[in-house]
Amino acid sequence: MNAQIDHALEEIRRFRPSPEFAAQAVADEGLYDAARADRLEFWADQARTLLQWEKPFTRTLDWSNPPFAKWFDDGELNVAVNCLDRHVEAGLGDRVAIHWEGEPGDSRDITYAELTDEVKRAANTLADLGVGEQDRVAIYLPMIPEAVVAMLACARIGAIHSVVFGGFSADSLASRIDDAEASVVITADGGYRKGRVFPLKPVVDEALGKAEGGTVRNVLVVRRGENEVDWNADRDLWWHETVATASNEHEAKGFEAEHPLFILYTSGTTGKPKGILHTSGGYLTQAAFTHKNVFDLHPERDVYWCTADVGWITGHSYVVYGPLANGATQVLYEGTPDTPHPGRWWEIVEKYGVTILYTAPTAIRSFMKLGRQIPHEFNLRTLRLLGSVGEPINPEAWIWYRHVIGGGSIPVVDTWWQTETGAIMISALPGVTDLKPGSAQVPVPGISIDILDDDGTAVEGEGGGLLVATEPWPSMLRGIWGDPERFKETYWEKFGDKYFAGDGARRDEDGDIWLLGRVDDVMNVSGHRLSTAEIESSLVAHPWTAEAAVVGASDETTGQAVVAFVILKASQVSHVTDPFEASEELRKHVATQIGAIARPRQVFIVNELPKTRSGKIMRRLLRDLAEGREVGDTTTLADTSIMEVISAQVR
Ligand code: ATP
Ligand code: MG
Repeated sequence: MNAQIDHALEEIRRFRPSPEFAAQAVADEGLYDAARADRLEFWADQARTLLQWEKPFTRTLDWSNPPFAKWFDDGELNVAVNCLDRHVEAGLGDRVAIHWEGEPGDSRDITYAELTDEVKRAANTLADLGVGEQDRVAIYLPMIPEAVVAMLACARIGAIHSVVFGGFSADSLASRIDDAEASVVITADGGYRKGRVFPLKPVVDEALGKAEGGTVRNVLVVRRGENEVDWNADRDLWWHETVATASNEHEAKGFEAEHPLFILYTSGTTGKPKGILHTSGGYLTQAAFTHKNVFDLHPERDVYWCTADVGWITGHSYVVYGPLANGATQVLYEGTPDTPHPGRWWEIVEKYGVTILYTAPTAIRSFMKLGRQIPHEFNLRTLRLLGSVGEPINPEAWIWYRHVIGGGSIPVVDTWWQTETGAIMISALPGVTDLKPGSAQVPVPGISIDILDDDGTAVEGEGGGLLVATEPWPSMLRGIWGDPERFKETYWEKFGDKYFAGDGARRDEDGDIWLLGRVDDVMNVSGHRLSTAEIESSLVAHPWTAEAAVVGASDETTGQAVVAFVILKASQVSHVTDPFEASEELRKHVATQIGAIARPRQVFIVNELPKTRSGKIMRRLLRDLAEGREVGDTTTLADTSIMEVISAQVR
């Protein structure tokens, strides 16, 4: 089969870095030169300069047994010491590490010295509970500082954490506890979401009733929601009675660079989540390198805010490990963007003087839907850099983000990466790269990316194909927990020693990369392979549209036909009275912008789209709907009832 994907959407807007930004930028062209000259030496150099090693490494990469890579493997380091103690020892103990904002409006500022102390106490507590090196600890917490403390306490003692998003059900938690054979669960009584306390400890109790392994000995509970909880005195402990009273003396030892750091399950957009395993030295090197250079981090003056939950890879690499390794000051927010009012995020930006904001297209599009008057009520002038991750950002959303949130002149970086890649792989470097809305642009220095046809030949010209990483990279996954066969099958069977990412992409004449959506979602219309991302971007470029999802549904004449699901902007809903006319107009719009081949067979106007808990559109469910099938597995949906609402609207 020909894997090439047709491309049709043209985007011609370009933004050069301003001279003022470029003059102060952390990154420069020299990074690309150094990486091109000697890729391995480049990464070795980053590992030495960005991190503190207890024992220096002498070997950079061992790729003698692909796909199992070892980076810096004869070196030793302690990840928590790199994120905490060394900053305190360097005299930065009084710098705020975390400005924490609770949803009800309570807040705490935590310095590096305080965070280090707390992590030492938690490390002692876990050790007292018998948690040893390589033991697994499940973390099921809201976005409170204790989540960061728990992760770093595990890292400090060489235990492996498995963070499970606090919105997941007892079943999801139980299956993840079983899969990792966790011996301790760290949770809270409850946390705040949408103005209410949602219970966590009761879900853990239920999950432990369901978990078949019976591996959990203790449950450590942070008091946050003050909600009523059942107590099992043989198993449960309060954080404020154990961690808070534990000693803050803790001697950290260095672990081998390949010591496992964490397991994290993917979002489950395409199927059953996979337990992705990451290790220490290489992971931290690339997390720190990309955090510093992609976000132009000046730790002495920036206030950085990544809105991702710690339950996702973005929360691991760009809330915990990257920023803390770099000594950054950051905001951590517990709640939802619209509680108690729709301007909550912008109020937080104003309150803390946030300078760097990293979020997802789904959030940006939901703000577009509400309108610019909401952010405009707040002072956002401190912002100087914006980032995006999670899905392709449609050019129209990129422009809106830059103008409405960024005031029109600051860089926006679109960062492509995955749970599996551990850190950013493709992104512009602010101050260096000319920016193109909608394109993730270029591999970061030291990363080798190619676009291949199904048979492994590079796609020439501007056609689209399959995105691969052609060389191992420091923060690459080291496997799927407990399933080396699935690891090989999923990522390596297709192209041998090249990593198959599962995403479609194309390269334009300047060498910039455009993500076209997941390979499984590519549509085949009359022999043309069409990208979901391009048609969605075209729909979002129409003034009525806030969000769009397209899928290919089987069609008697064309093989597959494009079916679109569209959410209108709040300000347009009253103008668009006839849904039939609206869908005609949008069909015509796509045909004009992209070509008749991409004209949707149907456009359904809906109020919601099915999304994973991390905000990604689950197209396979829409495909089921478009093809009149029973809707498939919805367990990783943020709201499992949403498909009923959408099917009612479609009918
Ligand atoms: P699963 O693998 O279980 O289906 P998932 O792929 O949604 O879940 P993640 O690792 O959270 O889990 O998401 C990575 C995917 O998100 C990428 O493969 C890509 O499809 C998409 N993605 C992330 N960032 C971008 C981006 N900047 N542009 C385009 N797509 C992106
Ligand atoms: Mg994936």
